[in-house]
Amino acid sequence: MKNYIHNKEQVVKDLLNWYDENARVLPWRTNPTPYEVWVSEIMLQQTRVEAVKPYFERFINRIPSIEDLANMPDDELAKLWEGLGYYNRVRNMKKCAQYCVENYDKELPASYEKLKELPGIGDYTAGAISSIAFKISEPAVDGNVLRVFSRLLISEDDILKESTKKKFQTIIRSYIPHERCDAFTQALMEIGAMVCVPNAAPRCNICPLASNCMGYQSGKASLLPNKTKKKKRKIEKKMILVIVHGEEVLLIQRPNQGLLANLYEFKVYDQYLKVKEIKDIFGKEHILKMMKLEDAKHIFSHIEWHMKGYLIVVDQKIDGLWCDKKDIEESYAIPTAYKKYKEALYAWWNIN
Ligand code: SF4
Repeated sequence: MKNYIHNKEQVVKDLLNWYDENARVLPWRTNPTPYEVWVSEIMLQQTRVEAVKPYFERFINRIPSIEDLANMPDDELAKLWEGLGYYNRVRNMKKCAQYCVENYDKELPASYEKLKELPGIGDYTAGAISSIAFKISEPAVDGNVLRVFSRLLISEDDILKESTKKKFQTIIRSYIPHERCDAFTQALMEIGAMVCVPNAAPRCNICPLASNCMGYQSGKASLLPNKTKKKKRKIEKKMILVIVHGEEVLLIQRPNQGLLANLYEFKVYDQYLKVKEIKDIFGKEHILKMMKLEDAKHIFSHIEWHMKGYLIVVDQKIDGLWCDKKDIEESYAIPTAYKKYKEALYAWWNIN
């Protein structure tokens, strides 16, 4: 390998100087409590910073402490999380909060090892809470940080492998400046989000690390990081029936295990149905109106839902939970996967 320049101390210094001048002002950045760091990190694992801001503020206003989170009713919690996806994360947060109430005097423990033992807290989140909130020098290594370091060190290791993550945790630990470990963690996240961005397009021309980045010097930065191709997602067909009676709609609670557990949905079938089959289910004579809705697709990590749907106005209620708009807005979380069908329902209510 050619002799590329990479001075560790200079990387840290340039990174921190850049961060001091360029860090975005974010609601969870100004003297955050461990609880606030935790909430923001879990939210940021699934959504962009701009989208997280209103969720974070609403969540912290409504649930200001770990004890409040431990006592939060499940439906209300899901409602606050509605639209963020990965609902098992917020369920794990509640379990974790309950554990902290019982075992750690209603606080998160100030220990990297103890944090990792808590439900839903892995190496990354433990590293972020430890370094940002408790000023403990531990790394927080996620996909963004792996990308930045793969490029800095021209590493061809597959970043989807657990062994690569472990290897980089050790490497990055040796870069952490103890007196500013909180800023270091946040600076790495920030440069990954703003400069050393994904999809083969790092902004090396404005990067403060370029003079010590071996990926840049070798011309290979945009080819890194190396990732194995993900397996193809499984496609599942869904028939969505939005059953309306006057100002109410039929909602069904999903099972308490698995994908989107406990959330609410319309009447859903795991196969496409013909019009005649639908009419037979409800009885043709009870259907006042039946409208084809737009097809929709929703992508989860391993599955894609390909959805077809109808809005059906019926003249009598069948067994189940019937809700009006206010109930939906206040109490029942409907997953984003059904966004188009919920919009169609609201549009129907608006004109009728
Ligand atoms: Fe990433 Fe380019 Fe900066 Fe290297 S120089 S860290 S590849 S943005």
